[in-house]
Amino acid sequence: TNTVSKNFIEQLIDKDLEEGVYDHVQTRFPPEPNGYLHIGHAKSILLNSGLAKEYNGKFNLRFDDTNPTKERIEFVESIKKDVEWLGADWEDRLFFASNYFDQMYECALKLIRKGKAYVCDLTADQIREYRGTLTEPGKESPYRNRSVEENLALFEEMKAGKCEDGARVLRAKIDMASPNINMRDPIIYRVAHMTHHNTGNKWCIYPMYDFAHPIEDAIEHVTHSICTLEFEDHRPLYDWVVQECEFEMPPRQIEFAKLYLKNVVTGKRYIKRLVEDGIVDGWDDPRLVSISGLRRRGYTPEAIKMFVDLCGVSKSQSTVDMAMLEYCIREDLKMKKPRMMAVLDPIKVVIDNYPEGQVEYFDVPNNLENESLGSRKVPFSRELYIEREDFMEIPPKKYFRLFPGNEVRLMNAYFVKCESIEKDTDGNVTLIHCTYDPETRSGSGFTGRKVKGTIHWVAASTAKKVTVRLYENIVDEEKGMFAEDGTLNLNPRSLVTCESYVEPALAEAAPEDRFQFVRNGYFCVDNKDSAPGEPVFNRIVSLKSSFKL
Ligand code: ATP
Ligand code: MG
Ligand code: MG
Repeated sequence: TNTVSKNFIEQLIDKDLEEGVYDHVQTRFPPEPNGYLHIGHAKSILLNSGLAKEYNGKFNLRFDDTNPTKERIEFVESIKKDVEWLGADWEDRLFFASNYFDQMYECALKLIRKGKAYVCDLTADQIREYRGTLTEPGKESPYRNRSVEENLALFEEMKAGKCEDGARVLRAKIDMASPNINMRDPIIYRVAHMTHHNTGNKWCIYPMYDFAHPIEDAIEHVTHSICTLEFEDHRPLYDWVVQECEFEMPPRQIEFAKLYLKNVVTGKRYIKRLVEDGIVDGWDDPRLVSISGLRRRGYTPEAIKMFVDLCGVSKSQSTVDMAMLEYCIREDLKMKKPRMMAVLDPIKVVIDNYPEGQVEYFDVPNNLENESLGSRKVPFSRELYIEREDFMEIPPKKYFRLFPGNEVRLMNAYFVKCESIEKDTDGNVTLIHCTYDPETRSGSGFTGRKVKGTIHWVAASTAKKVTVRLYENIVDEEKGMFAEDGTLNLNPRSLVTCESYVEPALAEAAPEDRFQFVRNGYFCVDNKDSAPGEPVFNRIVSLKSSFKL
């Protein structure tokens, strides 16, 4: 096999399979259901499900729901939807860590019986103090040498609800002098009188993440437990837990670098704040890089997959530019989607020498680069809308669009020449008078003269008026992510709403339908605010890109 093009995780897996450490590959994605997923999670999902596919293995979706404080069913449902949408197939392998509470409890008892865990009565502050620092070893708890019998009895009391929250914990008995602070008798169970979304009031003791996670992996026969770099220092504890709990075929933890986007809010914590402060319209606001936000904006699973592949998998932290994700969606939609005409910021044109009341139809190819998308009929009539910026009363040099006396091509239609304009009392242009030349009809082969500008248009009588939303980064990129007081620097122009006109074929567009609007970018029908016959369009991305592969 070609190991050069494989990432470091694939190389590790190859080695494990070659050496017979494992005879199959089992991965998992273990979200905590305490928020919606974001682009970083997409990386983890596609990595784990992709490896399972590549090695003919299995992929589990497991909710890591061992901490009842912040977990909610709403998040479970949204996470399932997002993972499915990304195309990661867990088949019938959907699990909840909370279903393993009995087994985790048994593991804790096993550790106590082996003299590898003890009940500690120190307060949280004392435990922290006793733990020591990077340069100073920790100090042993006075409760460290309790007998097995006493520990079993006290742990039983904790479980039976006889202890207040925080009064006692169960700790692994490892090494208070370890250079790795995570190994200095970490807490593995705590008392918390809380109702759990799955187990209700059955438990008032809950396992800590570092104890629960390896057990969850081992129970599911996970071979490669892939997580992000901040858990590297926890790996010795992970290995200790699976070994001391005596699981056969211990899973291997592998860490990779998190995905970060430059000047983009990714962390669950920060997205949550934007939602709670009402700065965005929920977790699926199209300006967010939550998976539901990206979907609503118009990103496709294919584009996200391409992006994640381009980012690669590595051990060193790096920050990726959002332009790369934008490049991927352009690449995905370019050949697949029809190119339609929509006038975002309209100004009216009347063609004075065109017959009043007449409508003619132009047969327009849907995508000049992809014939298989066919063509459509586009109506043309005496009154049209064009973009306000495609007309200037006093044009600068090299402005080739419409201005008094100048002739341009109306895309797919005729040459028109601006003859005069009308203005309101404030001096704003309200109407542009043009004449057209019937000889110049698109497709007629006219070669009599040339024009330098081509502009798009929509026939007024048949146009559909719609709401179009244009987006920018929610963060003010000039100022950077955070202000001195730790709040986000917000961009006041992150959402601009336009009343626009689109060709009639777009009136029936359905939620999540995607189009190119010529010259204006790629757009997607909003899946929340659109109604039948009343689509709202979100701009996914403009056509121009600074990003080159
Ligand atoms: P956040 O830091 O945004 O709150 P989290 O890590 O707390 O996310 P979990 O639900 O615990 O969220 O994560 C599920 C999985 O997704 C974990 O395996 C985690 O390592 C992975 N993950 C989270 N953020 C990223 C990221 N930015 N890049 C890659 N993987 C990530
Ligand atoms: Mg987490
Ligand atoms: Mg987190």
